[in-house]
Amino acid sequence: MLLPFRLVYHEGYDLNLGDHVFPSQKFKLVRSRLLREGFAEPDDFVEPEPASDEDILLVHTPEWIRKLKTGTLTYRDIVTLEIPYSQQMVRAFWLAAGGGILAARLALKHGIGFNIGGGFHHAFPGHGEGFCAINDIAIAIRRLLADGLIRKAMVVDCDVHQGNGTAAIFAGDESVFTISIHQFNNYPSVKPPSTVDIHLPDGVSDQEYLNRLRDPYSTALTGFLPELLIYVAGADPYFGDQLGGLSLTLEGLKERDRMVMETALEYRVPVAVVFAGGYALQLADTITIHANTALAAAEVLKETGWHGRR
Ligand SMILES: [Zn+2]
Repeated sequence: MLLPFRLVYHEGYDLNLGDHVFPSQKFKLVRSRLLREGFAEPDDFVEPEPASDEDILLVHTPEWIRKLKTGTLTYRDIVTLEIPYSQQMVRAFWLAAGGGILAARLALKHGIGFNIGGGFHHAFPGHGEGFCAINDIAIAIRRLLADGLIRKAMVVDCDVHQGNGTAAIFAGDESVFTISIHQFNNYPSVKPPSTVDIHLPDGVSDQEYLNRLRDPYSTALTGFLPELLIYVAGADPYFGDQLGGLSLTLEGLKERDRMVMETALEYRVPVAVVFAGGYALQLADTITIHANTALAAAEVLKETGWHGRR
């Protein structure tokens, strides 16, 4: 084992989308990259169980779960979801949610828990949207709350698209603080309010992005003092992204990763990382951005150390 934290991964994470703008083979490619570069060894990875239906019910309606399991989505459901239906796709979402729960539990133990997947922040209780059928972020938080492992959690969503599903799920829930930093002029057109939304204009680059995030984030973190932070490390604020309109570089994105994780660990708040979007014209760039998040996690954990929760 090379790492001070585990990488949660399952080969079933692949949503089997074929030729689709969402490169669902990216999870496997990130794993290969980390192994090939000597960053991780096979035993740094742990395999999650799929979430149980009971876990999924902590967030989603029985009707939506039934539709997914029985393949009875309407035409409209599939148009809104924007990915083709298959049993493999459904299993991938159950596994991503199980991976999120495992990464969150491991975060409490090691300071960082890292899911090489998940981040499906556009999923609502009763429907899916924008490639997201099941909200693994919300399920992980609700599972740990229900198990009494934490009393409050924070979501820091840095995907280029606003975390509408997560915001809607936790609206009015005082135990969960949601922050979303995103391009305003982008999907989703309707943005249910997060606790804090940072709406960015088009074309924002590294320095402005980091400046806009730093103060609201650290004020929220120190004021709320969550017992778990879920970092939604979207790769799509990248300048080469097909579905994003911001202009961050590879270096800027890694700096963002470092800032989010370092600030949390300094306040002894454990961080569970999930991936979310990434649609770079060159798939290799998306893989680099996600792999860099793992590198940043290792660097930050090494520098800051983990002395347990406050
Ligand atoms: Zn996105």
